[in-house]
Amino acid sequence: MRGLQPRRVVCYPGAMTVRTRYAPSPTGYLHVGGAWMAFFNWLFARHHQGVFVLRIEDTDRDRSTEEYERSILEDLRWLGIDWDEGPDVGGPYGPYRQTERGALYNAAAQTLLGRDAAYPCYCTREELEADRQQAAAERRPPRYSGRCRNLTPDERRAREAAGRVATLRFRVPQGRPTIVVEDLVLGQVEFDPADLDDFIIQRSDGTPLYNFANVVDDHGMDMSHSLRGSEHLSNTPRQVLIYEALGWTPPRFAHFPLLLGIDRKKLSKRHGDTAVREYAAQGFLPEALVNFFALMGWYPEDGRELFTVEELIHRFRIEAVGKSPAVFDIQKLSWMNGVYMQAAYRQNPDRVVDLVIACLRDQGLLDGEVTPEQRAYVARVVAIMGERLRLPRDILTYGDFFFRPQVAFDPQAVAKHLSGPDTAKVLRHLREALAATRRWDLPTIEAAVRGGAAHLGVEDKAVIHPLRVALTGKTVGPGLFELIEVLGKERVLERLDRAIARAVEPPASTPR
Ligand code: GLU
Repeated sequence: MRGLQPRRVVCYPGAMTVRTRYAPSPTGYLHVGGAWMAFFNWLFARHHQGVFVLRIEDTDRDRSTEEYERSILEDLRWLGIDWDEGPDVGGPYGPYRQTERGALYNAAAQTLLGRDAAYPCYCTREELEADRQQAAAERRPPRYSGRCRNLTPDERRAREAAGRVATLRFRVPQGRPTIVVEDLVLGQVEFDPADLDDFIIQRSDGTPLYNFANVVDDHGMDMSHSLRGSEHLSNTPRQVLIYEALGWTPPRFAHFPLLLGIDRKKLSKRHGDTAVREYAAQGFLPEALVNFFALMGWYPEDGRELFTVEELIHRFRIEAVGKSPAVFDIQKLSWMNGVYMQAAYRQNPDRVVDLVIACLRDQGLLDGEVTPEQRAYVARVVAIMGERLRLPRDILTYGDFFFRPQVAFDPQAVAKHLSGPDTAKVLRHLREALAATRRWDLPTIEAAVRGGAAHLGVEDKAVIHPLRVALTGKTVGPGLFELIEVLGKERVLERLDRAIARAVEPPASTPR
């Protein structure tokens, strides 16, 4: 992918190098929403032949784990999202883990203190909690009281002497005019600084808080753009103030719309907001996910839906990202997966066959060492499933009969097509016709079945439906002649014998 040379599109003044980042907190597996943002940062960087950085925001030490960090890297790689700088590959702006960048935060904190843009706050947890409760009782939004805002050096010393350890609070400048952000997606967004209260930027143990660390790192890593979810919009004015206080220019912001479920409610597990690795385990293909991610929020002019990654890189325009919420439509993702499954099968059948084998094993329909013959059989089944196979598990819905020793009959299908007075006669005749064939290919099979209908003086469908139910147990599935060919003569004749016996002497439970 990186070897590819998309047309250079320069649309930023001075043709600066575009540098974007994805900055996950390793407090869980990579979820769809995170992967979505990672993807757009990556896409934007690749479109502009820029640099994509992975930064681990692990300042929450209690919840961050190495295992989650590893899994996030793994899942991004699986999606085909590669980074030029990051904790594993290094780079000129490292380290790329916030826990390793303490000195940089301390230096910035000292600068802010020196400029009186931040001050030590000695308020205890209890004091702050009491303030909050009072605000709630008075139905006011909770705001920092400003208790430590203007302490004299003596007052500070007294608190320290009493054993209080300070946090560091950012001093929101008073009387500052409206904060204006030119957002690449939302357009001009304005924030009233009067709505902000002084906020903590460093804990008493010296670790930085999100807004502060994020600014120090985005500046320190020379980020040109910050593409992120709208849930961070409320952080943006605070970050802008920190940039200003440090005399730094903020990156260009682009806040992407919220991700909603198909019912327009906040995306949750119920809608499919699960870990990317869950999707992988279900047999979703990374190329389908990536194509699907691109269309959540970005609207290519011509309404086209299927794109290769190279096309996405080439065509992506941040100006075409919508402001209204993006909808995560799992049905659409499944459809797309089906399209990519077929493409994958054409390119490298083994890849799809492996996924289907894993699913069959999981369901106990295959076990032990899979022989080359079994593999070939699965491959033939996959080939005739065509579009029905959107996910590997669709093999269970439409093709379980290929792998079950006995057909599992759908009672409705039996009632409809295997319970007529002539069923046994029809099946017997078809059995004979199929048994008499010398070859076992599509034209021969089709001729035997259609010839059977003609011989019996009935329409083709009067033999085709019972035959399908006798062999598969259901009314839907791959083409009849194809499935007969793949099942093989021996299985077909054996299943017909059973169905004939059944038609003559139906089991008690079968509805008639
Ligand atoms: N660590 C933040 C998150 O995971 C990063 C937000 C940002 O991109 O600024 O949401």
